[in-house]
Amino acid sequence: MTKGKVLVIGSNATQIEVQGGGWGATGQYLNETVVPAMAVIEAGYAVVLATPNGTKPHIDEASDSAQHFEDDEAAYARAKAFFAHDPAMNQVRTLRAVIEEGLDKYAGVFVPGGQAPVVDLMQDPDMGAILRHFHERAKPTALLCHGPMAVVSTMPHAREFRSALIAGDVATAKNWAEGWHYAGYKMTVFSNTEEKVVEDQILHAKLYFNMVDALQAAGGEVITTTVDFEPNVIVDRELITGQNPRSDHPIAAKFVAALDRATGAASSRAIGRDKETQMKAARMHEYGKPPVLEEVPVPDIQPDEILVNVKACGMCRSDVQLVDGYFRKYADIPTPITLGHEITGIVHKIGGVVPKVAGFQEGDHVVVAPGWGDGVCRHCLVGNTHICPNVRWPGFGPVGGFAEFIPVPARYLVKANRRLKFEELAPLTDAGMTPFRGMKKLRDAGALGPGRVIGVLGIGGLGGYAVQYAQLLGGGAKVVAFARNPDKLAIAKNYGADHIINIKDKSSNDIAKELSNATGQADLDAIIDCAGAEQMMQLGFSLLAISGHYVDVGLVGDRVDIPLFPRVSREQTFHGSYWGNNTDLTEVMALAAKDKIRHTIKLFKFDEINENIDLLRTGDIVGRAVMKW
Ligand SMILES: [Zn+2]
Ligand SMILES: [Zn+2]
Repeated sequence: MTKGKVLVIGSNATQIEVQGGGWGATGQYLNETVVPAMAVIEAGYAVVLATPNGTKPHIDEASDSAQHFEDDEAAYARAKAFFAHDPAMNQVRTLRAVIEEGLDKYAGVFVPGGQAPVVDLMQDPDMGAILRHFHERAKPTALLCHGPMAVVSTMPHAREFRSALIAGDVATAKNWAEGWHYAGYKMTVFSNTEEKVVEDQILHAKLYFNMVDALQAAGGEVITTTVDFEPNVIVDRELITGQNPRSDHPIAAKFVAALDRATGAASSRAIGRDKETQMKAARMHEYGKPPVLEEVPVPDIQPDEILVNVKACGMCRSDVQLVDGYFRKYADIPTPITLGHEITGIVHKIGGVVPKVAGFQEGDHVVVAPGWGDGVCRHCLVGNTHICPNVRWPGFGPVGGFAEFIPVPARYLVKANRRLKFEELAPLTDAGMTPFRGMKKLRDAGALGPGRVIGVLGIGGLGGYAVQYAQLLGGGAKVVAFARNPDKLAIAKNYGADHIINIKDKSSNDIAKELSNATGQADLDAIIDCAGAEQMMQLGFSLLAISGHYVDVGLVGDRVDIPLFPRVSREQTFHGSYWGNNTDLTEVMALAAKDKIRHTIKLFKFDEINENIDLLRTGDIVGRAVMKW
């Protein structure tokens, strides 16, 4: 007994017209076809595949690789086998036959991408008739990558619209699009900058028109991410669109949820034998407004993921900045966003292809390494997944730690010693890891050691840990903490700072004198800046010694104006150091297991998230605020 039938519509195109009169090889993308189809089947629906001429879609060679399955060879092999042998992929109907047999039997429709739909589906009248049916009955309509171009087919003059685009006549195209069914809908599609990569590296030619321009000319409100190949799914009424191949899993999850809502078949499989299907989560729906504490479905996991039952989540200044829109000019993340990126909890459910050798078992205590890379770029390959150009961050997208459950790719979980408290594990994934990576950069640069003085600027959530790492990794360097708040300086002293200097209302000359009295030198050989505030950085650079190294891990400000000549003539070095990778987290966890790290924690409850965001914004939290369930 299935929950219902889902129509998957493929393309028969194998070539696409390119500028100059030639053709480029194309086809449908393997992962975009198979990942959503398998998810739909796994959720209890039957899939019917249809194409314009009733033959099986041709798979684009560019998509036929494990790269599109996050380098998971097993997932790639399963996808190939599914596409080759599963009955759902081999009993192909024509679009006409599907219409004649009746569309009422279908709960939803899905169109995968690859450039192929741009050739045939977008101008196929039967495709148009099918989509109009789903549009008029508000049944879930999901389209991925170039698949969203298929919605053009609902226009009475889709062919003419397309010809006008090829001729470069946007005004005429707009005329043909008059009265389009999806005008004013929010949607997304393979972006122009993503297309450029394909044009340059795969087609070696230019397409006649870009997808974003085409859907905008038709009257769609197209929303693409600023970061290429970052998953992006936009839902507006019945229409669910995904931007690029990497949106395959996210669009599948949203499509299944929409199907379940439409058919009234609430998914109970998400967490196996448990009856829980809903969970609490703090989600931001609008920038500049407090997150909403609400009930949402427990997220599904992909086969390579682990569902973590969150036990504690730290609150970071970045949470405040995310709400306040600080990051928007760098990455305008679509809402809703589940906040929280300092995550620890218990393994609740393990995906089917998580390798046994990973050693995870239900009930394990884990922390979440935050920078989820694509696994294939040169940064990922040396382990720096957190600076991957395609990185995803928990707490900066659909899933986050201020929720009862979070799905995490298994390779981004690190096991924790069961003896350690969850509220102390949570901040080690950011506040306790970020200064550790920064300190390693100073150490590796040769800036630490006997006879040196290191300054720790700013004793907030990160600075308390930075002081400890300055002692642990400093090789005997003297450690001096700088801050304005006496309570925070007391923590630094308590955690091993050799000297503390309150900088409130003091000139840099006075501060240099105080430093000289305390350490015998008026400058700092190394600085770790845990604030990154403009004035603090100006002070720091004024104190930096000849051949000094300055590492910044703080992001309070976003600009700094400092004299150039001393930087050059004194041969000083600035290091950006961003969060940390799996190795950093593993090392920090090892130190924690040896009780080498001390914490200042302010516990709060889920219901108190918003008041703590306000306290953090005004700098009124001493140590780290951690939410505990
Ligand atoms: Zn953070
Ligand atoms: Zn990468």
